Amino acid sequence: QSGDPPILEAKGVTKRFGGFVALDGVDFAMAPGERVALIGPNGSGKSTFVNCLSGALTPEAGSVRFEGRLVTGMPPWQRARAGLVRSFQIPRPFRRLSVIENIEVPLNFALAEPPPGGKAQRALEILESIGLGAKAYGSPKDLSQVELRKLELGRALAANPRLLIADEAMAGLSDSEVDEIVDLLERLNAQGIAIILIEHIMRAVMRFSQRIIVLVAGRKIADGLPGEVMRQDEVERAYLGQ
Ligand code: ADP
Ligand code: MG
Repeated sequence: QSGDPPILEAKGVTKRFGGFVALDGVDFAMAPGERVALIGPNGSGKSTFVNCLSGALTPEAGSVRFEGRLVTGMPPWQRARAGLVRSFQIPRPFRRLSVIENIEVPLNFALAEPPPGGKAQRALEILESIGLGAKAYGSPKDLSQVELRKLELGRALAANPRLLIADEAMAGLSDSEVDEIVDLLERLNAQGIAIILIEHIMRAVMRFSQRIIVLVAGRKIADGLPGEVMRQDEVERAYLGQ
């Protein structure tokens, strides 16, 4: 797929909070269907970067293109409709709604027109694809931690993404639960969804990614094949210095 035009192209993305430079001219391009992990020590700018991609934050400088279209300045809901979707670090389902209603809500505003077969049908399909079909009519209060993470990914799937950004979808999970989420992300990727995984759990990163990019103090210090990136001295130092 390396001959395809990039699905995402960020150039010189710079974000400041007051006088603090959280992102300093980050360049990043990604091919359709690619699986990339974004790693780096706490506070290195990973969430800030994906917030600039998704539109939650507006960078002071730089540009973001999605499928060739300039999306810098476009609000998050519009980017989601275009197929660029992120899930959140901390799942916040609507506790008073059923599991399936939690998928129907984002379906309502993520899609420009009703899906073929209707919303309830599409919501159930999504729940089945993430292994929560049997829990559809229950309450999110009765879901386990790993099920809540899956529901959060399911809410992101409502928009039919071609690029899904998963921000720490595995923190606090057991090894086998981490594997379940990696398996799920791999299945979604096999359906053609490009994925950016922000993750601290290196076993998941190494299993999942075709490419790793490393942010340290708001700068991209490495970008390449997992085995090569993890052997770079600068990457090793960044992690030891944490
Ligand atoms: P990461 O996700 O890599 O842990 P973040 O992108 O959340 O890092 O944060 C990068 C830096 O920017 C941190 O020093 C953080 O304190 C700072 N930061 C993030 N968001 C804000 C904000 N809204 N206001 C001020 N500083 C922020
Ligand atoms: Mg973060």
